[in-house]
Amino acid sequence: MPLDLVFKNVRLVGREAPCDIGVADGRIVAIEPSIAADALVEDIGGRLAVAGFVETHIHLDKSCILDRCRSEHGTLAEAIAQVAAAKKNFTEEDVYARAKRTLEKAILQGTTRMRTHVEVDPRIGLTSFRAIRRLKRDYAFAIDLDLCVFPQEGLLNDPGAEDLLIQCCEDEPDTIGGCPYTDTDPHGQIVRIFEIARRYDLDVDFHLDFDLDPTWTHLDEVCRQTDRFGWGGRVAIGHVTKLSAMPEVARAAVGRRLADAGVALTVLPATDLFLMGRGHDHDVPRGVTPAHRLAEQGVTCSIATNNVLNPFTPFGDCSMMRIANLYANVAQLGRAAELETCLDLITAAPARLMNLPDYGIAVGNPADLVVLDAHDPAGAIAEIAVPLAGWKRGRRTFSRAPAVLHRDDVAAE
Ligand SMILES: [Zn+2]
Repeated sequence: MPLDLVFKNVRLVGREAPCDIGVADGRIVAIEPSIAADALVEDIGGRLAVAGFVETHIHLDKSCILDRCRSEHGTLAEAIAQVAAAKKNFTEEDVYARAKRTLEKAILQGTTRMRTHVEVDPRIGLTSFRAIRRLKRDYAFAIDLDLCVFPQEGLLNDPGAEDLLIQCCEDEPDTIGGCPYTDTDPHGQIVRIFEIARRYDLDVDFHLDFDLDPTWTHLDEVCRQTDRFGWGGRVAIGHVTKLSAMPEVARAAVGRRLADAGVALTVLPATDLFLMGRGHDHDVPRGVTPAHRLAEQGVTCSIATNNVLNPFTPFGDCSMMRIANLYANVAQLGRAAELETCLDLITAAPARLMNLPDYGIAVGNPADLVVLDAHDPAGAIAEIAVPLAGWKRGRRTFSRAPAVLHRDDVAAE
């Protein structure tokens, strides 16, 4: 088969020696020690490449609003109230412009697949949904965007929210989400979301158990309904900071329950660190659930960004590498195998969470490739390796020149 493009001298996760990758018609058609072909050649120089980062949980629609909000207490309740107030002035163009800024940063940081949670309720209506759907179309050249519509401020307590969610579902979103902890009837919301998911054949992704009280959970009910609806493998839950407050034995029991039910879990270190433990004036709990431990038990886990430059998280460069390094730091991971797991939690594992069977550098898959300024997975996480270039379906989407040191000693050059 004639090739359009050959990546030479690429290191891949799980492969000892560098290899060449042949691309035809936007797909990977060969991975060999050496490929000779009359095609465009990109020499990767022995650097590590991944199929791009997979961001399972981000809020593009409410990113970049710090200039419109206060963050005095830094609590979850304040963040929800501040964003609810700011949301009243969102327009489609405004949402599009802010989301575009955030999405472009993510693409430049090497993200090629993303699930964005989009708020739908009687205050915002379908404004954000429409804006993000346009964005999905406009940036399809660089990233596959999965829209997860959800009611951030409750469902059963918010007349009109369900009708709007149903309207979105008629317009073919990718995923449906929920936020039981803001509902007056959390279990009722969980069941209702599963009913809508079944009706429209959608995967489910809940914001869940976002506090540090280990004495009760909504996770039990999500597992119960996952079993009841036969939705195993199609359900994810995000935050779940409660698990960080549980002793290991109790947490391991929850891990087995999640693995058995086929419920995946996303940890959001930046937001969890920023919002949790605000009542403590010393020995502040980290509030970050140990995704790597749950992954060891067979739970599909990911690490993700969540919020960017808003009262939930007033930080953010959309770098998945930085978030994975932050997680490693907080979770006290430093051995090579542990750091390799951190890379897995932002690449292959989240692709499983999102049910993306064509993700990965393998023959037959789309030629999505992101080159990192690193030579091995552990080093990439330890040093927050810079993404130097990316391709989506065989077409280059970004490039970044390596930094150059300019010495004052001319003779040394
Ligand atoms: Zn979120």
